[in-house]
Amino acid sequence: MKAIKIAIDGPASSGKSTVAKIIARNLGYTYLDTGAMYRSTTYLALKNDLDASKVSDLLDLLSQYPITFQKVANDQQRVILGDLDVTEAIRQPKVTNQVSWVSALPEIRQELVAQQQRIASQGGIIMDGRDIGTVVLPDAELKIFLIASVEERAERRFKENQEKGILTDFETLKDEIAARDYKDSHRKVSPLKAADDAIIFDTTGVSIDSVVDFIQKKARKIIDKS
Ligand code: C5P
Repeated sequence: MKAIKIAIDGPASSGKSTVAKIIARNLGYTYLDTGAMYRSTTYLALKNDLDASKVSDLLDLLSQYPITFQKVANDQQRVILGDLDVTEAIRQPKVTNQVSWVSALPEIRQELVAQQQRIASQGGIIMDGRDIGTVVLPDAELKIFLIASVEERAERRFKENQEKGILTDFETLKDEIAARDYKDSHRKVSPLKAADDAIIFDTTGVSIDSVVDFIQKKARKIIDKS
């Protein structure tokens, strides 16, 4: 049975990583959270006071402090930068609100996309991000583009933040999500957009289980045929 590549893209907090992790476990696939890679790079830039004019310094730091993922129990994984665990640090608002300028840098995208493609070449993979179906894995057998209303996405992120002990104001969160979507969709390089052959799925009011079920059925059909 052939292992396929699954691309899940969509705007901020559209549920991509939650469903991707569950599907990866069920299919025995590798899950790659590409947002965590852009967040880790942003963390490096902020820690070292680098701005967009210092992209080569940032690339040097990235090779000095590689981004890796460590599997732990319950479908969770830790994000490691060099030998530092940055799992929580990269979810802090100061990283979230700065990530868009870092992810708009072509040199950074080129490096991270190359890393993502190397990981994908090892076999069954489910990757989530903004440009997976369009740029990273244009030959993915299954491409899903998840959307949801900004209100619902802000509610999901608000609850997630509460559980992680990150304090946020709901209205601010909503504005920040909308602003990040705007920047991600309007950047010159690899903007957030659905691939022509992606299935667009509006998850507003839809349970996680139903989204998982829908994607998994599609995946199994393709796997069984191959
Ligand atoms: O998925 P997450 O919200 O963690 O992504 C954080 C940011 O990383 C996005 O807002 C976007 O700027 C960037 N990103 C990207 N391309 C990807 C994944 C994330 O530009 N494939």
